[in-house]
Amino acid sequence: MYISYIQLANMLNIKKNEIIFLSSDVSLIAYHEIENNSNFDGNIFLNIITEKIGDNGTLILPVYNWGFCKGLPFNYSTTPGKTGYIGNVALKRNDFIRTKHPIYSFVVWGKDKDILYNLNNTNSFGKGTVFQYLIDNQATNIAINVPFNHHYTMCHHVEDYLGVFYRYNKYFKSKYIDEKGCILQRTASMTVRHLELDIGGDASELYNDFLEKGIAYEQQIGSYTISYINIAKSIPIIEYDILYNNAIKQIQINNITAYNIRKDNNMYNIVKNLFSINRSLSGNGNRYTLNYLKENYLGELNIKEYSIKDNPETFDWNTPYEWNINDAYIEDENGNKIVDFKNNNLHILGYSEPVDITIPFSELDKHLYSLENDIDAIPYTTSYYKKRWGFCITHRQREELRKNPDKLYHVVIDSSYNENGSITYGELIINGYEDDEILISTYICHPSMANDNLSGIAAAVAAAKYIYALPERKYTYRIIFIPETIGALIYLKENIEHLKKYTKAGFVLSCIGDDGDYSCVHTPYNNTYTDKIVTHVLKHITDKPKEYSFLERGSDERQFCAPLVNLPVCTLSRTKFGKFKEYHTSNDNLDFVTEIGLGGGLNYIQQCINILENNEYYKIKTVGEPQLGKYGLYPTISQKGSADYTRNLTNIIAYLNGSNSILDIAELLNMHFNSVLNIINKLKENNLIDKCEK
Ligand code: ZN
Repeated sequence: MYISYIQLANMLNIKKNEIIFLSSDVSLIAYHEIENNSNFDGNIFLNIITEKIGDNGTLILPVYNWGFCKGLPFNYSTTPGKTGYIGNVALKRNDFIRTKHPIYSFVVWGKDKDILYNLNNTNSFGKGTVFQYLIDNQATNIAINVPFNHHYTMCHHVEDYLGVFYRYNKYFKSKYIDEKGCILQRTASMTVRHLELDIGGDASELYNDFLEKGIAYEQQIGSYTISYINIAKSIPIIEYDILYNNAIKQIQINNITAYNIRKDNNMYNIVKNLFSINRSLSGNGNRYTLNYLKENYLGELNIKEYSIKDNPETFDWNTPYEWNINDAYIEDENGNKIVDFKNNNLHILGYSEPVDITIPFSELDKHLYSLENDIDAIPYTTSYYKKRWGFCITHRQREELRKNPDKLYHVVIDSSYNENGSITYGELIINGYEDDEILISTYICHPSMANDNLSGIAAAVAAAKYIYALPERKYTYRIIFIPETIGALIYLKENIEHLKKYTKAGFVLSCIGDDGDYSCVHTPYNNTYTDKIVTHVLKHITDKPKEYSFLERGSDERQFCAPLVNLPVCTLSRTKFGKFKEYHTSNDNLDFVTEIGLGGGLNYIQQCINILENNEYYKIKTVGEPQLGKYGLYPTISQKGSADYTRNLTNIIAYLNGSNSILDIAELLNMHFNSVLNIINKLKENNLIDKCEK
């Protein structure tokens, strides 16, 4: 059945005022027109579409051209798009305007054309680009006869802002002839794939996911297939796919069977299921938390009790008594509970002493804690080492109560201290074939906050699962779940000589489940093996790494890096403690931590472990350079990027003198560790290198 292009255009599902991003391959349509003694007229085709959209809608067509990456000049007025005939028709029209990026430019009609023209992004895919606009403005992607793999650039946008490690930012500089004909030199950047990584390219599963979830649908018009995608709704699915699939595939390339997060993602569930438990330095909430982990995830977790009676002091610190709390509330004269610990356990000042009194508000006010600059948040406050009692409430509520200073309130805190009790912590040891150990530490003393630090607990569990799944383990992993500060001191008291002798590297996991940037706190001199690994991973996982010096410490790196301890321990975070506004308040809740945030945090840890497990020293066997062609190591087909590949290969060989580790070489050549590792594996297969002891 012959459908004319005019009928086709009229049948497209386009609503008035829509923002349409149109990808098309019209060659088949044009061919059918010729068969039927007609002619495809791109202008008429565009007129029908713009008519349907109307003046309050916007039509965007891609006119990408990659010549700029090869050093060719970009001419705003004359450089054609390489992404379909229709875009080039639009380029010639006065009612369309072209955006300015020399690689990823678009030609735009309608309401928002000036907004898009005024974008001055130098990067190709990330924030501030047209791709971001398409998401923010609920655009629909319509693809006419173009397979998903070939047109859905949104995937690169997501990879770009997530900062996946199999892509890196590359800068291109060339001549740029602007709309006035002025010749300029411009730089544009684009994240490109590490070619030697060979990350899977089949996105059909992702597209099927869109179809299944109703985010995309197809329309069949004659022999033409039209696909419609809700761009904004597709983004979380792409994020999920990238973090839980592609990143994991990458690790499998290096012969490591990764923990399959996508099918067995328990991290968010751990945070959710433990959120309401009241944890502190000690007590039954901590026992519950550790037992929950042991029963559900880590059968080999050893739950230990540190007797307070036997250890009244822990190094220079008095060991606090075990504290438990059953109930706490403030009620008014009518018996209405106006503050109730059962609604949110942040309401109680941690380690409060028991009380049962009736007092006027003016007295009670002295025992209240609130945040003047965040009036709807409940602060997290503790008093571990001085006996007090108190409640934490929103500042809004406190101001309201202050209006009646003489009103009487009944205050009850049903808590207890036990000098015969203990401080509970968890320890999991996963053995490797070497004596050296990796320490992973996280803290269990915070109640009802998701990022600080249920995210650390979830990440430590997921890291343990990953370590268990390694087919071969070089190091022994010592994963500990301890109350912050006193728990670290207790653990040191019991293990310091062993830790000092065997700890090769160590990590404190803190605030590692939000969507913010990746960050770390370095050791005091930023000179340990751990520092070097973390710096490398950060550089490749994000273009905005935040590396904090030891002067900004705050978690258990304080104890592990103290002068007489001196362990190589860095703290890993997404947004570091104290650097997000939800920190230590009731707003650090189950919305603040996300599955994607946690997945990224785990990826950060996995990459550190991957380096630890694979970083070795090798020496080239040949005197002079090896003749690579003999081993089939020169690419036989010259394809895009093959020159880069050969250059990387010969550069790596140039540094294989036995005293540079794989990580050293990756740093020297500014390559991702895995990129170097892959080439090392090829050289190893060809018997061109020897492993050296160092
Ligand atoms: Zn904290």
